[in-house]
Amino acid sequence: MTQLLKGQDIAGKVQEGIRKDLSRIQEEFGERPKLVALQVGEQQASQLYVKKQHDTAENLGITHELLQLKTDITQEETIEKIDELNHDDSVHAIIIQMPLPEHMNLEKVLSSIHYKKDAEGVHTDNLGRLVLKKAKVAPCTAIAALELINSTGVDLYGKEAVVVGSSKVIGRPVSLLLLEQMATVTVCHLGTFKKGDLESHVRRAEVLVVAVGKANLIPGEWIREGAIVIDIGINRVDGKTVGDVDFESAKEKASFITPVPGGVGPLTVTMLMRNVVNAYLWQKGKETEDR
Ligand code: NAP
Repeated sequence: MTQLLKGQDIAGKVQEGIRKDLSRIQEEFGERPKLVALQVGEQQASQLYVKKQHDTAENLGITHELLQLKTDITQEETIEKIDELNHDDSVHAIIIQMPLPEHMNLEKVLSSIHYKKDAEGVHTDNLGRLVLKKAKVAPCTAIAALELINSTGVDLYGKEAVVVGSSKVIGRPVSLLLLEQMATVTVCHLGTFKKGDLESHVRRAEVLVVAVGKANLIPGEWIREGAIVIDIGINRVDGKTVGDVDFESAKEKASFITPVPGGVGPLTVTMLMRNVVNAYLWQKGKETEDR
């Protein structure tokens, strides 16, 4: 029977591990890690995400502060603010809320965060560490996807894993994390689709992760019997949120599948908090007991 992989169900277990580390931190260092969310301008789009962060952090025992900057602040002034946070010992992690105004270069702003305070795991150094199998923090959506896959209890050793989408913060990190667990990984992208090879790759997948942003790109008939299907895509169709996989037909074939909404999404804020605690321990030269 097909089992649904719901982020909310897994979040509790991850939070248990985070709480253990937080009580160890309180015992040893007598403080709570602090996450600063930096937002440029009043961004309606990210308000909800900031509130969710704040509630999750405070519920766990992580201090969360919003630093609101004016819309017309220059890139240089923003980087100066980030540098102040980098040098502030009471701040352990920083997240830049999207979107940034058009006059700013995202990569420049992100890479001005000290890599050990990179709450989202998107700094160049941290992406490089992922290649070297030495990541302490990693992109939240990617680690949420892996957490869901691992929650199935299926050993990935030698499994055929196919990742559709190769973006820097989702598809590529997911592929590296799967590789780290000894899966045989194929990464598909627009070139694979245009060549007409997407179907043949997807049909081989014992583990399928899709992160493209195209509704119903993957029909259920392509899904291998018994596959684990992780649909990261978010699309609006006729006023409804759907993923990249045709859920109704895919669930007839998959052994485990994420619903959209309700799959990967609800786990990403918890994984952000996992990164905050990992970043704290990294700064103190300690390891988490949970990874
Ligand atoms: P992105 O940067 O636009 O990357 C999309 C990737 O899909 C690219 O690698 C692109 O290939 C590939 N692609 C495009 N059309 C394709 C096709 N027809 N067949 C195969 N591959 C194709 O997007 P992203 O930031 O990775 O996000 C992907 C999806 O995840 C979006 O729907 C986004 O909203 C969603 N998302 C979900 C969460 C969550 O928490 N659930 C979080 C963040 C994002 P090329 O590189 O060759 O162009």
